[in-house]
Amino acid sequence: PYSGPSAAEILAKRQQYLSPSMHCFYQKPLNVVEGKMQYLFDDTGRRYLDGFGGIATVSCGHCHPDVVAAIVDQTRRIQHSTILYLNPAIANFAEALASKLPGDLNVVFFTNSGTEANELAMMIARLYTGSHDIISLRNAYHGNAAGTMGATASSSWKFNVIQSGIHHALNPDPYRGVFGSDGEKYAKDVQDLINFGTCGNVAGFMSESIQGVGGIIELAPGYLPAAYSSIRKAGGLCIADEVQAGFARTGSHFWSFESQGVVPDIVTMAKAIGNGIPLGAVVTTPKIAEVLTRRNYFNTFGGNPVCTAAGLAVLNVIEKDKLQENAHVVGSHLKNRLTSLMAKYEIIGDVRGQGLMLGVELVSDRKLKTPASAETLHVMDQMKEMGVLIGKGGYYGNVFRITPPLCITKEDADFLVDAMDHTLSKM
Ligand code: PMP
Repeated sequence: PYSGPSAAEILAKRQQYLSPSMHCFYQKPLNVVEGKMQYLFDDTGRRYLDGFGGIATVSCGHCHPDVVAAIVDQTRRIQHSTILYLNPAIANFAEALASKLPGDLNVVFFTNSGTEANELAMMIARLYTGSHDIISLRNAYHGNAAGTMGATASSSWKFNVIQSGIHHALNPDPYRGVFGSDGEKYAKDVQDLINFGTCGNVAGFMSESIQGVGGIIELAPGYLPAAYSSIRKAGGLCIADEVQAGFARTGSHFWSFESQGVVPDIVTMAKAIGNGIPLGAVVTTPKIAEVLTRRNYFNTFGGNPVCTAAGLAVLNVIEKDKLQENAHVVGSHLKNRLTSLMAKYEIIGDVRGQGLMLGVELVSDRKLKTPASAETLHVMDQMKEMGVLIGKGGYYGNVFRITPPLCITKEDADFLVDAMDHTLSKM
């Protein structure tokens, strides 16, 4: 049994010693002391179904035994100082990762986070093309360092960053966007930005295929092929940010860009790649990767043996435990059940997403789509009391984000929906 400090004691320490910007979910924050596959345990031993997966980070399941074994085994052998020498872990994982990507996307740079991966991708695009302008989508989240904070397009996540050479295109949001589900119409805005906001040449375009932080927004069908075509005509590279939606989460495909039928020039990833271990990566083609030989490029922890050993174990577990298939089967069932709640509750304005990356948007008026933000918080709190944790997002904070570990079962999915149903019925 747990014998550490209480939730109240931890909260007091956080308030005294940690950044005041750090915040917790829930009126009574949870002290999570253990995780096992799709479940989390608090300090009283109470079990919760984890419907958020550490923000789509826990892919295989909390403390999956194979991943833990790989980390422990590598930790015992060598943890670091391999950066200027050879070591099998990094090479084996790079090879395995490259085999999951289409075309000649087979050169890997390892980083420690999604932000670092996107910063590097933006720099590579600028070096390769000799251009500076980068287009990203409104409502995107790409990170919080100097360059990526510019590419992130939501005032909730921006400080007074100098946004050099970044343009934000209309978001192809089928629910709130002006052109509904017509992806090609939204993509015209990318061409307009090139024509009227740049010299006609751009370094690149970066986007998620399903926006995570932005509230689980699937880009309207047909958007990426049309946007990529405009970007390539302007000499730019297309960057797919798979930090949240990659690694089998969408079920139908391993990478979320695949459902739009495109092949990017650069793919960035993090979160699920390490099942919770800090790891990120940029994958590109040999020709594009060449630009980093012009100077010295170095990252002390990027690709260290412990994290890359974990990464290789994650890929093996996704295969062995058939997690992509599970994301598809359980995710489809979960989405169907969530969608059926729409007939019962006016407050549900939209249910969307793919596989185990699902969103439920709450509105107080279906026609006006008025965000029901306070209600969203209330339902989350009540579901926690019933033993179910989910996330929230979207600009107005009125979208439930359901991104559980990919190992959840149909019974877990039913439990989650029943808890939501029960809470909504009491409102
Ligand atoms: N891209 C996307 C799509 C993300 O969701 C995030 C994190 N929420 C990032 C990039 C940044 O990743 P990190 O927090 O690891 O820097």
